[in-house]
Amino acid sequence: MHKKQQEKRTDPRAKKCPFCDKEVKYIDWKDYPTMKPFVDYFGNIMKRYYTGICLKHQKMLKTSVERARFMGMLSYRK
Ligand SMILES: [Zn+2]
Repeated sequence: MHKKQQEKRTDPRAKKCPFCDKEVKYIDWKDYPTMKPFVDYFGNIMKRYYTGICLKHQKMLKTSVERARFMGMLSYRK
């Protein structure tokens, strides 16, 4: 009756960190095209759970997005 499931349960949302792939050491706040995909329509930074960014790069992204907001490159709220 009971069959052991051999299939691995992989989360389709599990991704590699895109910044680690390119070995990014610093995310520039002037670099709009790199930050854009990680900021949603409302101007919020996307959760790490959805984008697959590692903690180190998420923190770097956060600071750069905040700097970009302050300088008027990105919106605080739409
Ligand atoms: Zn990373």
